[in-house]
Amino acid sequence: MNLDLEELTPHRIAAWALLGLGALAALYLIFHAIPLLLWVAITVGPAVWVYLDAEKRNNDRALLWGLLCLASNVLGLIIYLIARPEIGASLCPSCSAALQSHWVACPHCGRALHSLTQ
Ligand SMILES: [Zn+2]
Repeated sequence: MNLDLEELTPHRIAAWALLGLGALAALYLIFHAIPLLLWVAITVGPAVWVYLDAEKRNNDRALLWGLLCLASNVLGLIIYLIARPEIGASLCPSCSAALQSHWVACPHCGRALHSLTQ
């Protein structure tokens, strides 16, 4: 590339400067966006999984579990894995939703689970 000084107008200098700034901005985004996305995946991913898992198990506090995991990350995940109810231990005979033993009716379909005379 040969630079002729007569071609070096202020507009061209500004265009090259903008091009350089754009390239720097792109590099900045690449080298900062990738670690940011990784951090979000590591932090938010387990919290979302805990929330969805608790929802699947009809846990009334699914959002709270998700927030606990978001705040404490691995510790919250471990506590949730220890405390979560077993799935399949008791399923609604009508809609197959996971149930907790103390429920008297299915929260999904409303089917009565225990006779009130028991
Ligand atoms: Zn049901």
